[in-house]
Amino acid sequence: MFKYGKSSEKRLSSCDERLQRIMREVLKRSTQDVSILCGHRTEEEQNKAFNENKSKVTFPNSKHNSKPSSAVDIAPYPIDWDDTERFKLLTKVVLSVAKEMGINIRWGGDWDMDGDTTDQTFNDLPHFELC
Ligand SMILES: [Zn+2]
Repeated sequence: MFKYGKSSEKRLSSCDERLQRIMREVLKRSTQDVSILCGHRTEEEQNKAFNENKSKVTFPNSKHNSKPSSAVDIAPYPIDWDDTERFKLLTKVVLSVAKEMGINIRWGGDWDMDGDTTDQTFNDLPHFELC
């Protein structure tokens, strides 16, 4: 069974309790190890993410900017950004756990959540947020 590392735990603890519950269950069910990349972002961190084109919005307009954070970024570990299939596999687990728990979330790989990942203007595969 997988276990979140220290950094992942710290980032996850900055997230809304519902996201924490989802991500703990996800790790139990996932066939891949998971890393928590980001929870809450401070003003400085948000504007850095914006400048690096990892986010489309500046502080305080991201769901990562609330306290606790209403968004979390995760990735299959070890991370291979080019292997989108692994992100999609992990997303399936996340969405099914959230559904079971009755928590509404949306994924940055399918912002309008219509099941079509080709109608995106900005792909953010690690990103999940509360609706
Ligand atoms: Zn994010």
